[in-house]
Amino acid sequence: MPEKIKNLLELAPDERANLMITLLSKGISGKVLDVMKSIPREYFISSEHFAEAYHDKPLPIDNGQTISQPYTVGFMTDLLEVKPSDKILEIGTGSGYQALILFKLGAKVYSVERIQELFDRSVRTFFDFGCNGIHSILGDGSLGAPEYAPFDKIIVTAASPKVPQELKNQLSTGGIMVIPVGSRESQTMLKIKKINDSYFEKTEYSNFRFVPLIGSSGWNTNE
Ligand code: SAM
Repeated sequence: MPEKIKNLLELAPDERANLMITLLSKGISGKVLDVMKSIPREYFISSEHFAEAYHDKPLPIDNGQTISQPYTVGFMTDLLEVKPSDKILEIGTGSGYQALILFKLGAKVYSVERIQELFDRSVRTFFDFGCNGIHSILGDGSLGAPEYAPFDKIIVTAASPKVPQELKNQLSTGGIMVIPVGSRESQTMLKIKKINDSYFEKTEYSNFRFVPLIGSSGWNTNE
């Protein structure tokens, strides 16, 4: 493990362990928590927020975006039922934290980000963590990544007004999509399983609040 990451892991071991206990008590699986424990959240945030790195809340990253609340990351990862060698599409790379977790669970990850600065930074992040198996894509992820489809799993980490048809098309039969859908203020977490091209099984979970998915099948910037 690179020295920089090792040093960050030494910063707040007790706080990190306590957060994992909290998440376990909220129902997040041990398998996902083991991976979350191995990634220092300090890496993704500015030092002024270090004291809050292991609070269970979203934190700001650059360009007005956020790294999601740890509970939300764990919950969505569990809903995806990640298996080693799954081919997963993530929409909304942001800090790269969620993509790293999926990669460390053994998946082949394709991650799309629309903001150039965040995209550039995430490429450096994946390099720093020694992950050469994450494929970074710059563009409008509301349209998916048709050139790499189909995907076993799709995870959308921004709030969508609907389930984009393009993403449904790019999911394999038997595949799972996890996506927060609703208004810009509040979204219901959906787990969607593709039974066949015309039938999708949908399970609804509680409400979350994400930054908007901006794009052709998402929100307009000024909506
Ligand atoms: N998964 C991220 C992480 O682990 O840090 C958190 C994602 S943040 C809540 C949402 C991200 O979605 C932002 O970085 C935002 O720029 C990005 N985003 C919004 N609309 C997008 C789109 N159409 N395509 C790709 N990325 C988008």
